[in-house]
Amino acid sequence: MINAISIDLEDWFCVSNLSGVIQKDHWDECELRVESNTRRLLDLFDRHNVRATFFVLGWIADRVPALVREIEARNHEIAVHGHDHLLVTKATPQEFERDLQRALESLARSGVRQQPIGFRAPSFSIVKETKWALDILERFNFQYDSSVFPMGLHPDYGIPNAPLKPYKITERLYEVPLGCVEIFGKRIPCGGGGYFRFFPYTFTKRMIELSNGRGIPIVFYLHPWELDPGQPKVKIPLMKSIRHYYGLSQTEGKLEMLLRDFQFTTIRKVLGL
Ligand SMILES: [Zn+2]
Repeated sequence: MINAISIDLEDWFCVSNLSGVIQKDHWDECELRVESNTRRLLDLFDRHNVRATFFVLGWIADRVPALVREIEARNHEIAVHGHDHLLVTKATPQEFERDLQRALESLARSGVRQQPIGFRAPSFSIVKETKWALDILERFNFQYDSSVFPMGLHPDYGIPNAPLKPYKITERLYEVPLGCVEIFGKRIPCGGGGYFRFFPYTFTKRMIELSNGRGIPIVFYLHPWELDPGQPKVKIPLMKSIRHYYGLSQTEGKLEMLLRDFQFTTIRKVLGL
């Protein structure tokens, strides 16, 4: 079975988890580390002959257009992660649409040739209350969304009873949910990010095997900063700090094992689009 792997292309300071300390207006003062971290990912993908989906933040595309072109040149899928990392849960439909428009303009300006067909909302902020955003994605000719975490474990996101495998969420739009497995009625995340850093690799491996055994490919995600233990440390509340900094030095080694043990490709390919 072929699973999907995706990267949310943003830098360490773009994360919602740090937004209480580093506001958007101060992003330009932060050290840009996304290029070197992304190149490590690209080299790792090349070594394992894996193509991935990159959900690019428009703000990043404006800063490092050559990196975005390189991702495309190395045969990965380019998709959209908004422009300013605006949470859909904090936006009006007009604000969401404006941010989406700006993200697409940034990508076009960067010089990539692909017309993106996939979208991932910052911090998985497509929840029950923000399904209105799907109509806007349809209007912009997106073919899939990958923003729903089908579980109720996290305080800020998730749709607890959403399907675990890709499905049509509207007439023209697929939803490609992040990897979760149901065990004894409980949903366990095995889709990457902080969960990948937190759980031992053997646990994630077992969860993915279970999902694949049930005929469900998983959708995995990471950020370039999750491979970077050398990033600047900021003081944030304990739970947020654990979410951001736990296990950073082991991510790359775990990812090597993951790419060795499972087959991965782009979300577009998994959907057959
Ligand atoms: Zn993000």
